[in-house]
Amino acid sequence: MSIKQNLQNIKNTLPNEVTLVAVSKTKPILDLQEAYNAGQRIFGENKIQEMVQKWETLPKDIEWHMIGHVQRNKVKYMAEFVSLIHGVDSLKLLTEINKQAAKHNRIIPCLLQIHIATEETKFGLNEEELIALLNSKSYENLKNIEIKGLMGMATFTSDENQIKKEFSSLKSIYNNTKNILPTITILSMGMSGDYQIAIKEGSTMVRIGSSIFGVRNYK
Ligand SMILES: *Cc1c(COP(=O)(O)O)cnc(C)c1O
Repeated sequence: MSIKQNLQNIKNTLPNEVTLVAVSKTKPILDLQEAYNAGQRIFGENKIQEMVQKWETLPKDIEWHMIGHVQRNKVKYMAEFVSLIHGVDSLKLLTEINKQAAKHNRIIPCLLQIHIATEETKFGLNEEELIALLNSKSYENLKNIEIKGLMGMATFTSDENQIKKEFSSLKSIYNNTKNILPTITILSMGMSGDYQIAIKEGSTMVRIGSSIFGVRNYK
């Protein structure tokens, strides 16, 4: 099926209030252009250099989301244009984003990544660390970032109950966070394999790659 048809099929199953991030990492410009021509305006990438190249080439009304783990020394390359950084998992990183955003006179929207999976390899804060961050004096002083919500990834498993439990725990952390930060609106959870479960558990933003662009070929 074409990218356009895949996008349409997914959009037909998404509630209106759920935002679709088309995850285009590793995919060529032509594929992104095809999705753009079909009306898609939000793209997610996980490598800063790749995102910068695509941003330089493609139309300027695209919103670029950084969904991968961010190295602090590379924040400067995307600070001018990135629309949302999903994977913020430390005060140090937030401080660097703030510094680079200030150079461009911007306020960069960020999500804090929460560790909900059983795999050790997935990044993120636990709830205690999240609360400590939000209550810290140094966080209060960051004027060029805005926390818009939370992001998380479930365990890679076929056990749907496990996935449901993890998303449900993230939703409850999200609700608790709203007590500290009432302005948050984004709960980024759900990928090609689990977004339907994520939506049932309260996701407001899904990050979908292979169901739109086909399987990725890492070389
Ligand atoms: C690659 C990636 C996705 C998309 O994965 P698919 O299974 O292809 O939909 C979503 N979120 C993050 C953080 C990713 O790295």
